[in-house]
Parts: sequence; C-alpha cells; structure tokens
Amino acid sequence: MTTPFDRLSALPLRDNLRGLHPYGAPQLDVPILLNVNENTHGVPHDVRQAILAAVEESVGGLNRYPDREFSQLRDNLADYLGHGLDRSNIWAANGSNEVLQHILLAFGGPGRSALGFPPTYSMYPLLAGATGTAYVTGERRADFNLDADSAARQVKETGANLVFLCSPNNPTGTAISTDVIEAVYSAGADAQAIIIVDEAYAEFAHQGTPSALALLEGRERLIVSRTMSKAFALAGARLGYLAAAPAISDALRLVRLPYHLSAITQATANAALTHSARLLANVEEIKAQRDRIVGEIGSMGLVPVPSDANFVLFGGLANPHEVWQGLLDAGVLIRDVGIPGHLRVTAGTEPETTIFLDRLRELVTPTVS
Ligand SMILES: *Cc1c(COP(=O)(O)O)cnc(C)c1O
Repeated sequence: MTTPFDRLSALPLRDNLRGLHPYGAPQLDVPILLNVNENTHGVPHDVRQAILAAVEESVGGLNRYPDREFSQLRDNLADYLGHGLDRSNIWAANGSNEVLQHILLAFGGPGRSALGFPPTYSMYPLLAGATGTAYVTGERRADFNLDADSAARQVKETGANLVFLCSPNNPTGTAISTDVIEAVYSAGADAQAIIIVDEAYAEFAHQGTPSALALLEGRERLIVSRTMSKAFALAGARLGYLAAAPAISDALRLVRLPYHLSAITQATANAALTHSARLLANVEEIKAQRDRIVGEIGSMGLVPVPSDANFVLFGGLANPHEVWQGLLDAGVLIRDVGIPGHLRVTAGTEPETTIFLDRLRELVTPTVS
C-alpha cells in the first residue's frame, strides 16, 4: 500500500524537509472546540456590520491591486499598540505565522540558526525548516519558567542568529519577565541576534504584566509580534503584525510577496481595529474562565500551570490520552501537546467551560466501588 510518506519520498523534496510532518492540530466537527486557543466568543453583531460595510466598499476596487504598503492599517495598528509607535514601526502579514516567516526569510536561512525554548510554539521549528534555518533548542526550568542568566548563557553558547521568546508562552501559559528579555537582547549583541518576542496572547495577561513593547526604544534588533487571531476573535481573517525599529520593515519588504495583504483583509482588519474596545470586552470574560479553570483543576488534584494566556496546561494525569478521548466522547476537543502527563485546554465561554470541567472531574475522580 502506498502511504502519503512513500508518495513524498518519491519526490525530489529538499533534503531539510524530508521526514517532517505538517502542522496538524485536528479540525474535528464537535460541539465544543477548545483545542487551538481560538477566541471562543464570536464577532459581536455591530463589529460584524462594520466589517461587512468596509469589505463591501473595498469590493468595488478589486480590479486594482491593494495598497502594497497597507498604510491605513499600519496607522491603526500603531494607534492600538500605543507606546509612541507609528506606521514606520509596524509590519503585518496574513497571520503572525507569515510575519514570523518573513523574519526568518530575511534574517535566517542556510548557515544560520534560530533558538527556541521548548516546550514552546510548535510552528517555530517548522518555519525554521521551511526557510532552511537550523533550529536549536534551549532549556527551561522544570516549572517552565525561564531565568535571565540561563537564557542569556544559552543565547551566547549557541551563537544563534534569531531567538524566539514566546510570552505568554504557548503551550505553558507562562509570561516571560522583562529582565529575561533584556538579558537575552544583550547576550545576542555579538551575534547581532534578532530577538523575537511572540506576544500572541499578550491581551490575556494578568493586569500589570509588562509588554516587551516598552523595551523597543533603542533596541533595533528587538521585534514584538502580535496577532488579531486570539484577543480580537479574528483567527479566520488572518492578520498578524509586529512592532520594531523601522529598518526591520525595510528588511521584510525584500522578502514579502507583492501585495501580500488583500484589500479585503485590510478592510476587515481596519474595521475591526476601529471597534477594538468592543472586541476586547470579551477578553475579560475569557480571563475569568481561564482563572476558574486553574482553580477548579487544582481542586481536582491535578496540577495546572499558572497562565497569562487564554488556555491552561495541566499535569498530574496518569493517562492523558484516555482523558483526551473521554472528553472528545462528550463533545469537548482539547489538545495533547505531547508533554508527558499533561493536556492543554482553551478557556471557553462560561457554559463551555462548565461542561469541560464537569466531564474532566468525572474522568479523573476515582470511582468508589
Ligand atoms: C496562535 C499563535 C500565533 C498566531 O498565529 P496567527 O498566524 O496569527 O493566527 C502566533 N504565535 C503563537 C505562539 C500562537 O499560539
């Protein structure tokens, strides 16, 4: 029997892609989807209307290429981020995955390396592989935190050309403190390393958690990456962006495809950004469910990892796959991220979270016979 693997092997595939598996979180048709950290709240009605009106207007001009510089969008994103940023500091693409790919195309490539600290976002090694960049793995503490000294030492020892710091980190939910980012930036000086702080979940952090945006001033190798996929509930629209020194955008212009952001994408994102307060209102509700999950899971005798994101990683499971399957049988899809004894769940709406917690409690509570 011919497997997809055999079919691939028969092709003259690039050597560094041989044996790799594509990103593949299951997309199953079940009632409660808590597996890929989407915003579980739909786009509110008034924002939907605003997006439709903006898209309708842009449709009249679809015979022309879109604004290649997406200037209006960069203005709106800079306004949203604040921190004295303007359009020259902003870059955007179809999801922050494409933003990260642009960064690797410009600053990675054959002979260069990118350092990540697993467990972390599973796309970093895939994006590195696709761009011919070597992916080097560093180490975290057992509690998934990262120490400034240790991180800086690893940056120096590896001599990496790029460093991925995911904060809050996926899949652990751990936020990285400012001193770690400063130490990593300094440690990368000799190698002129590009330091990427992936803040896909920044809006869900507990109050008072600083953003790396505050560190951009005077650090021309620092990049802060964000997305509209999570807090803005726009995963389907595909809009990610970054803030950095203006020279970074100049570098990324060399590798993007011309007109990479469609007029429809730009119209959608612009309309959503003018309603950011309305969209972000649901973030507080999601944070409450996230904190509720941490509390209740702890009371079940399981071990939740403290989270600043819209998901919770929890351990203490004797048989994670059985629990994952038991939840799926009840119509609740969560994620096995491959950490022994652990599973990850996205914070749902209040009713969704209740169903998840009730079913989980049944699955992990020993039945007395
Ligand atoms: C979800 C996620 C992203 C966002 O990806 P998009 O392409 O913007 O949808 C980026 N980084 C991390 C760590 C994520 O979990």
